[in-house]
Amino acid sequence: MAPKSQADLTWQHGVRLEKANHWQCIHYNMICRGGDVTRLKVHLVETSGDVVKCTKAPPKVQQMFKNMLTNKKEQRLKNATQQAEFDRRATQEVGGGHYEARGGGDEEDPELEADIRASLEHAAFE
Ligand SMILES: [Zn+2]
Repeated sequence: MAPKSQADLTWQHGVRLEKANHWQCIHYNMICRGGDVTRLKVHLVETSGDVVKCTKAPPKVQQMFKNMLTNKKEQRLKNATQQAEFDRRATQEVGGGHYEARGGGDEEDPELEADIRASLEHAAFE
């Protein structure tokens, strides 16, 4: 069985309605118009734009999607392979009943960055 994607996990908390682009939150019974799965995710976490924060979703659920949104911003800089791996692990952790944000340890090293830049500049002269 293929692991559930983040979209699948998110749609466990909302129902897509027949009417185009409408969906309903299962916690709030609130019907919202427009947007994709990201908008439902946002609804479960915070008030943003015309999306109102869900006041009925369990704190555990809110935290899970908060981590998801935060990690998504960080992951934009990573490559697709890492994203897929992260999705797989996040899904497993959620399935296990808890979710942890990725730990540190792979921060970029400013000195290494400078070295790389210097070597690139050097290469450009040759
Ligand atoms: Zn809701």
